[in-house]
Amino acid sequence: MNYQGLGVGLGIVVGPVRRMFNTAPDPTDTVSALSVEEERVRAKTALESVAAELESRAKHAGGEAHDVLAAQAMMARDPDVWDDIEAQLVQRKTAEWAVFHAFGAFVLMLKSLGGTQAERAGDLVDVSRRTVAALMDVPYGELPECDEPYILIAEDLSPADTALLDLSCVLALVTSGGSPTAHTAILARAKGLVAVVSAEGVLDIPDGEIVVVDAAEGTIEGSPSAGRVAEVRALMVQEDDDGDLSAGQLSDGTAVPLFANVGSLGNVENALAKGAEGVGLLRTEFLFFEEQEAPTVEAQAASYTEILKAMEGRKTVARTLDAGADKPLAFLPMDAEENPALGVRGIRTAIRHEQLLRDQLTALAAASEAVPSDLWVMAPMIADAAEAKQFASLAREHGVKTVGVMIEVPSCAIVADQVFEAVDFVSIGTNDLTQYALAADRQNGAVAAYQDPWHPAVLRLIRIVGNAATASGKPLSVCGEAASDPLLAVVLVGLGVTSLSMVPNALRDVRATLARYSLAEARALAAIAVNGTSAGEARSQVRAALPRPPR
Ligand code: PEP
Ligand code: MG
Repeated sequence: MNYQGLGVGLGIVVGPVRRMFNTAPDPTDTVSALSVEEERVRAKTALESVAAELESRAKHAGGEAHDVLAAQAMMARDPDVWDDIEAQLVQRKTAEWAVFHAFGAFVLMLKSLGGTQAERAGDLVDVSRRTVAALMDVPYGELPECDEPYILIAEDLSPADTALLDLSCVLALVTSGGSPTAHTAILARAKGLVAVVSAEGVLDIPDGEIVVVDAAEGTIEGSPSAGRVAEVRALMVQEDDDGDLSAGQLSDGTAVPLFANVGSLGNVENALAKGAEGVGLLRTEFLFFEEQEAPTVEAQAASYTEILKAMEGRKTVARTLDAGADKPLAFLPMDAEENPALGVRGIRTAIRHEQLLRDQLTALAAASEAVPSDLWVMAPMIADAAEAKQFASLAREHGVKTVGVMIEVPSCAIVADQVFEAVDFVSIGTNDLTQYALAADRQNGAVAAYQDPWHPAVLRLIRIVGNAATASGKPLSVCGEAASDPLLAVVLVGLGVTSLSMVPNALRDVRATLARYSLAEARALAAIAVNGTSAGEARSQVRAALPRPPR
């Protein structure tokens, strides 16, 4: 039996399945036989042990996982949740019930807010389940024994568990729930773990069954033939190696520079080791997530200089702070919004806090003067040419030499010819462009299937931008997740995109796939893709028309 889900990353593996049980039973005993004080101590002790465990996992995990786990530890110690627990305890309820009930109310509230808040609900459910399991003294979220490497199947995996997965043990992660933009998927992607999420029915696969997990296809194939197993094993061996690290190009020699998306100095080292020719997206907000006060010009300049030094003169595209209610920064107070994705974010936040933007531009220009470098600077979420012009003149006023904008809002794509007149380059953010073109919140798992950049509507928007880039003779990059899908990368080049930027783990497959097709073939494939009637049809028609297989 085969199953279909949404793939994260591109890898393919074969191996035996192991199921992880990570649902704690809901408490049924509501009325306590103990005193209120005794239940209070039980609840407090359980919450504290869960918080301490999450904190210790945060320390070991580092990076993005650290932030998610530290936030979960804070949830376990949240005074508002504790007030609700106490309110239950004084009514003589058990600690199990009080915890379950109090967290449940907060989960409902977060879900009703939508956007990133709703996404956080899953993290809160995990804290609640951990605490209830501790109180009931039942196991929760224990990974199966590692007698041999396995494919882990679960209903969903908490960030806490994903962060600690032992890569020598777990070949792939498959979940029946979740979405490709939820924390679990993001952490899996950062670890380079083969993963498929939202694969309905997979919990029925018996423990020990051999399956093939193909993240590029989003499939789980049951009962593969011996030939198929051997074929996948050979691909797994190839995937262990970074392959050739040459510059990106098509089979006819057309250069397609391949860049990396990074959010820290550590990412830069990894990107260069994987053959990135530069950085196509430095998410500067990632450098300052933990700051409680706005970073000074000097502190920012020091961070940017470190990164530029590590880049040794290679092209580096820094994006100005991309913050909003959906991507909050502690030092930037945000009003709660009904629809954060459609609210004050990206350049809209920067315009409201103009001094912060001016400081960042000053720091970026100073860093580029401090070391030999090739720094390009772009702004996120630009809506039209007037906004592009406004940003470009501000950036130039502060000494930035190469100024661009991200096109991630459909309005901006439609007037791309005007936008190119105002700036030196453009980079398309396909994650946001897709969410806005399809009217599907990228943080909402219920509409995850719409978040597919193969959609012909998204590709036609990119074609408009591609034609404007060709007419202007200026560079056009894609730095959304679309660039990390090897076949879609070929189509993007066929639509007029001149460089691609992606998670470093995707560089090898994209490089190898581009090298198999000429510019004429890429254009022919792009013409087929834009005429599909759905994302799925565009993808399958391109695959069927390939003059030769992608690998
Ligand atoms: C995008 O939207 O495609 C993008 C690269 O920006 P982010 O994912 O950071 O919003
Ligand atoms: Mg974006």
